[in-house]
Parts: sequence; structure tokens; C-alpha cells
Amino acid sequence: MDPNQAVEDETHPSITAVNRRIQQLSLHLTPLAPLQPSPQLHMLTCAKAANKLEVDKASIQSYMRGKNREIQEKIVEFFESRPDLQTPVGISMDEHRELCMRQLVALVRIAKIRPFRYVVDDPAKYFAITEAVGSVDVSLGIKLGVQFSLWGGSVLNLGTKKHRDKYFEGIDDVDYPGCFAMTELHHGSNVQGLQTTATFDPITDEFIIDTPNDGAIKWWIGNAAVHGKFATVFAKLILPTHDSTKVSDMGVHAFIVPIRNLKTHQTLPGIEIQDCGHKIGLNGVDNGALRFCSVRIPRDNLLNRFGDVSGNGKYTSSLPTINKRFAAMLGELVGGRVGLAYSSVGFLKISVTIAVRYSLLRQQFGPPKQPEVSILDYQSQQHKLMPMLASAYAFHFAAQNLVEKYSEMKQKHDEQLVADVHALSAGLKSYVTSYTAKSLSTCREACGGHGYAAVNRFGSLRNDHDIFQTFEGDNTVLLQQVAADLLKQYKDKFQGGKLSVTWNYLRESMNTYLSQPNPIIARWENTDHLRDPKFQLDAFRYRTSRLLQSAAARLQKHSKTLGSFGAWNRCLNHLITLAESHIESVILARFIEAVQKCPDASSQAALKLVCDLYALDRIWNDIGTYRNVDYVAPNKAKAIHKLTEYLCFQVRNIAGELIDAFDIPASVTRAPIAMQSEAYSQYTHHVGFQ
Ligand SMILES: Cc1cc2nc3c(=O)[nH]c(=O)nc-3n(C[C@H](O)[C@H](O)[C@H](O)COP(=O)(O)OP(=O)(O)OC[C@H]3O[C@@H](n4cnc5c(N)ncnc54)[C@H](O)[C@@H]3O)c2cc1C
Repeated sequence: MDPNQAVEDETHPSITAVNRRIQQLSLHLTPLAPLQPSPQLHMLTCAKAANKLEVDKASIQSYMRGKNREIQEKIVEFFESRPDLQTPVGISMDEHRELCMRQLVALVRIAKIRPFRYVVDDPAKYFAITEAVGSVDVSLGIKLGVQFSLWGGSVLNLGTKKHRDKYFEGIDDVDYPGCFAMTELHHGSNVQGLQTTATFDPITDEFIIDTPNDGAIKWWIGNAAVHGKFATVFAKLILPTHDSTKVSDMGVHAFIVPIRNLKTHQTLPGIEIQDCGHKIGLNGVDNGALRFCSVRIPRDNLLNRFGDVSGNGKYTSSLPTINKRFAAMLGELVGGRVGLAYSSVGFLKISVTIAVRYSLLRQQFGPPKQPEVSILDYQSQQHKLMPMLASAYAFHFAAQNLVEKYSEMKQKHDEQLVADVHALSAGLKSYVTSYTAKSLSTCREACGGHGYAAVNRFGSLRNDHDIFQTFEGDNTVLLQQVAADLLKQYKDKFQGGKLSVTWNYLRESMNTYLSQPNPIIARWENTDHLRDPKFQLDAFRYRTSRLLQSAAARLQKHSKTLGSFGAWNRCLNHLITLAESHIESVILARFIEAVQKCPDASSQAALKLVCDLYALDRIWNDIGTYRNVDYVAPNKAKAIHKLTEYLCFQVRNIAGELIDAFDIPASVTRAPIAMQSEAYSQYTHHVGFQ
């Protein structure tokens, strides 16, 4: 071995290694220079792109641009101007947690963005802030969500004026960092199975919080391991009865429990806090576990909007049963789901933008003696990415609609609307986050080996986003809530009840289902018919109605022998398919509406193309179902397939404009492989080449 070639280790790094490390760090910290067109990296136009649509991307951009774009730009610009607040690749867990807290505090106190003020009064603005913050670092988005939506939101939504008056300021300026402590080691999805207790002591006018066994330790609690000073603890409210040997369990309620000293940050007596440790992703968030041993809190700390206890231990509530109170409490917490659905669409847009841009730039193989072609000219690559691009558009409009409905619900408190938003947020959150999680892997793969470099973002996005499928309600569990709601509406319909707005379509399509598919329409295969929104929506809705009707019949049959729990389990896959099918119908309906409302003709044509691809790709994916019942004849199935491929190709031709129309700041999609100019110089610099 060459003695001059010193072995580099952590304690004696060579000068070259140090320089190289500094260079790498500076690349992460220095805001990127504006993009310049680069001659050798012009996007290739597809050879057969003769009848490419003319797209005015600025017009689509302004149509899609939410009214809160300004605050989003302010956030991105703020972090761009503060290299010390950007998250470098390879940061350690401890550093990441501290950085995340500094980022949050700087956002609030230096950039003067105050998300908490919008949680109730302007939820659309709040979600826009979380989306922008999450695009800077997903951990920061979640940390912000824990502080303002979970901890802060529980105080505002489950508490009353006295709680708002006491805690608002401290939560708003992050003087009171807090947690939302619902999940326990033994119970996550089954919230009614929680075992932590809050026993009222009328003598001292206090509640006593206890963890009765290790299965009841609060687990995964965001902000608990390091920063939290308070926690909203969900516990069974236990009241002493007149017979002193007995107590009565009033069901799960929420309580504010201080967990650390406000000045010294010492853990308070009776509370044990442990660290949940290194996670697959989101390591900027400090998840911890909490155990309580006879922790006394004042009676006022009960978040008493839906149920209260007087000084003499009398329980009062405007709601008659434990189940109704529990439903009302959870109903107030759906904002978290709305936020996750909304942010997940944002991550889908970011990853599809990086993958499409790279696929337009990257060239591999080509006809003999001719230039290599863009990898997006391969049919297989189009098939991977174009339906995904179409889905990102479809989800965008569906998520916007959900946010509007949620905001309306917060103003009106209309019971019907609350039920609608509850089911819709459960469905969209699970459908969108599952789709995005799969797409993040597909995008990584679509970018080949370079997609695997951490600096190109797919790894962190994939790992950070993955848990979106589980927290705020496990997706499989949430889809069952959608199915249960559909079945309830179905039953109500036959008993003369009213269908809620989102479900309204079932009235007509169930009638259609009960008759046989029209054998003439089943054979129509011309393009105008296949691209007719009526055909597409009818097909989606027919499928949902059919699944609903057959699920109801199967449940009825099996419950005779298996009981309702057993019958539900026997039909579970069917029920999940039903819920997904319904959500797809809702998404398509929102997309069609958005296309129809688009004021600019050329943008409308582009969006219509994308919408047709979304609809026909989904129909083609489920063609077996349609063929089985002869809803679609063989010739029509073939025509759908051919048209879907053609639409993929057409969308590919405007893919560059379509990703630009998302209007995502360059610094967010800063993956070096996808920078239009200097693509390879960014990338080669990153590994140390000059
Ligand atoms: C990073 C992270 C942060 C978190 N932050 C918080 C926080 O701040 N506060 C908080 O209170 N909690 C938090 N959680 C907990 C989170 O909300 C729960 O993990 C989630 O609700 C799922 O519960 P579980 O883990 O017990 O899963 P389980 O409910 O045990 O689910 C495990 C599997 O069983 C399946 N399953 C369960 N029930 C059914 C059913 N009825 N039908 C079919 N399948 C079923 C699920 O689909 C899943 O695949 C966090 C978790 C993580 C990982």
C-alpha cells in the first residue's frame, strides 16, 4: 500500500476529504442558481408528436393555483434565504430533531407565519401552509401538524373558552410545545379500547391520570421524546358513584396534562418519558412513550366541550350516550386526515415532477445510427408515469374540494355535512396516501440508479411519507368506515331516507344496476362515446352500485350464521374494494366538474385529455369486472385499451407543460437529476467532481 495514501477515518480525515465534505455541505446549503437552458439537454420532442395539443401552461397554472399561493411562496422563499434552516442529506436523528424545532420556531417567530390562527378560522390557509412547509422537510410538516393541528386543534375543538383563553398564545408562538397522546402500546386503531384512566377526586377537585399496565403506555407520541411541555391525553373518565366501592366509566375523554416544567424542562413527577427511537423516516419528529403514575391535574383540564364534570362529581353532556360523545369527539379530529390527504397530493406532484422531468431529459438507446431517444418515449415509461400524472391532477381537484367542504363544515356545523366530510376525508386520505406511497417507489424506479441517490429525494420522500398510510387512522380501517357509511346510506335509502350529497349518485345508479346493462351501449366503441364524461362516470358508479348491492346481500346472508362481526370479516376484501370504488367515483366526478368549469378553452382541452386518461386507465385496470357482467363487450374493451394507450402518448407530449403547471418552486423539486439545466454538473458536483 502506498504509505502516502493515508487511510481516511473519522478521526484523521485527509485534507481532500475535508474539502470534499465542505463542498458537499455547501451544495446542500447554497440556494440553487436560477435555471438556464442548456443546449445539450433540451427535452426531446417525440418523433410522432405531430398533433400535440397547444398548452398554455400559465393559464392552467392560474386555474389550479389556490388562493393561498402567496403564503406558500413566502414560506419557500424564507427557507431558501436561510441555508442554516435547510435539512442536509444524511443528518443524524438528534440533529434533525433540533433542526426541526428551530425551523418551526423560526417560521413562527421570524417569518411571522402563524399557522395556529387558521386552524379553525381559515383551514384552507392552514393546509396550504402545511403543504409548503412539508415540501421543505416532511418532518417539519408533521412537527407543525402535531403542534397546531393535533395538540392545538384538540384544545380548540374539544375544549371550551377557558381553554382557548389559557393556551392559545402559548401554542401559537410555540412557547407551549405539546403532544396528542391517544395511541397506546396495545391499542392504536381501536381507540375505544384505550386503558389509561382519569379518575375524578371530588375532595381535591382533581383528576388522577394513571397508566394501569404497560399495554396502556402512550406510544408513538409526537413531540413527547424531547420538546413537549403538555400533552392532550385520551383516557377513560372514571367517576366515583354514591356507593363508595363502585365507580362508573364514562368513556374516553381528553385531558390537558403538563408533562415537563415550563422553565426547567424537567419531566414532572409521576410521569415517565421514553424515546421511541430511530424510525424508518420522519426522524426530525421526536416520538416518545409516556407512562403516568397518579398524576394529578385540576378538574379544569378536562377538555369539556362534549362532556363535563361538576365539583361534586356530577357528569353532564348534551349528548346522550358514550358512543355519541365518542363519535362527536373523533368527528372534531378529522382535520388531521384532511391535511394528510392534501399534503400527500403535494408529495405525489413533487415526485411525479422529478420523475417526468428526468425522463424527458434522460436518453437511452434509439433507432440504428440515430440519436438516442428520451426514456419517456418508451411506451412502458409512459405507462408508468402518465396515469400517475393524471392521478395527481385528479387528486388535486378532489383534495381542494375536500378542503372546501371541511372549511364549510367548520363554519356551519351542519350534521349532514359533518357525516359527509367524515367519510370523505377517511376515504380520500386512505386512497390518496396508498396511491402516493406506491407511486414514490415507481418514480424511484423510473429514474433508474440515479433515483436511488439520496440527494434526488425519492428515498426521503418515500420513507417520510410511508407512515401517512397508518397515522391519523390506518388506511384499511378507514376504508371500512367508508364502506360502513355506504351500507348505512343504502339501508336508509330503502327505508325512504335521504342520501348525503356525495353519495347522491347512488340513487340513480342503483336503479340502473338493478336492471341489466344495456347490451347496445355495451358495444359502443367510438372515441366520442368513450371520452364522454357520462359514459365514464356511469361506468364508475355502476361498479360501485353493483359492489354495494352485492356486499349488502352477502352481509345479510353471512350474518345469519356468523353474526355481524364474522360476516363483516368474511366480506372484508369486498367491502374495501367497494370503498375504493366509491372514492374513485368521487374523485372522477370532481375532476370532470373542474374540467367543465375551466374558463380557458385550451386549458380545458388539456385538462380534458388528462381527465380522460385518468378515467379510462381506471376502467381498463378493472376491465375484468366490467367484462364479467357484460357491461363492456369484448370489442369495447379492446377499444378502451387502445384509446388509453393513445391518451398516454398524447399526455406524454404535453407532460413538460403539465408538470410546470403544478407550479412547484424549483427549490422543492431540486433533485439534481431533474434540473433542466446543469443537470449533470449539479449531480457531478454533488459527488465531488469539479
Ligand atoms: C411515526 C408515527 C407517529 C405517530 N404519532 C402519533 C401521535 O402523535 N399521537 C398518537 O396518539 N398516535 C400517534 N401514532 C400512532 C398511530 O396513530 C397508530 O400507529 C395508528 O393509529 C395505527 O394503530 P396501530 O399502530 O396500533 O396499528 P394496528 O391497529 O395494530 O394495525 C396493524 C395492522 O392491523 C390491521 N388492522 C387493524 N384493525 C383492523 C381491522 N378492524 N380490520 C382489518 N385490519 C385491521 C391494520 O390494517 C394494520 O395493517 C404515530 C405512529 C407513528 C408510527
